[in-house]
Amino acid sequence: MYNDTQKLLELKELKVKNIKIIKGTRYIKVEMPRKPHICPCCSQETNMIHDYLPERQIKDIPFGVSKTVLLYRARRYHCKCGKNFVENKEQILSNYQMTQRYLFYILEKLGKKVSFKDVAEELKISITTVMRIFDLVKYSVNDIGEYICIDEFKGNLGDYKYQAVMIDPQNSKVLNIFKNRFKVDLSKEFSTISKERRYKVKFFICDM
Ligand SMILES: [Zn+2]
Repeated sequence: MYNDTQKLLELKELKVKNIKIIKGTRYIKVEMPRKPHICPCCSQETNMIHDYLPERQIKDIPFGVSKTVLLYRARRYHCKCGKNFVENKEQILSNYQMTQRYLFYILEKLGKKVSFKDVAEELKISITTVMRIFDLVKYSVNDIGEYICIDEFKGNLGDYKYQAVMIDPQNSKVLNIFKNRFKVDLSKEFSTISKERRYKVKFFICDM
């Protein structure tokens, strides 16, 4: 059952352990699959578990009107060299206590030119959080550098099931959010960037 749920939730790597609904909020217990990690200290591979950090609540994209909270305990691995380190968890943004796709979801909303206050009220998060997230982005595709990365995410927004996000991976900047991931629409968006800028791009990363 949980595999199906996982597909439904599009949590990609995260494994769903169980789901509870309490007072209209959906709590989903998740974990990262256990896998070999490279020690940041000595670069040896290890799959030895040291311990787990206390459970944290991570905000995720709401389902209809109900809020979604992931319950997650980060695993720590142990290396033979004596170093203990926390597992890789790209989908979870520790600084913001939210998932990456929730961040994109907020950005997409901000891209629709609604106010910080509107977004904060709708998602029941603080205006400060919304503003911090807004500071992360430069909504200008003209800032593209040598690397661009495009990824899809399920935003549950508007008329399209999937949205796409363009990131500058070198500077960890979100460059743009697209309303869908169709080639024709993405091409149209790209054609608004000057040829000169486009020719500067040396690496294009995409696994859609
Ligand atoms: Zn080590």
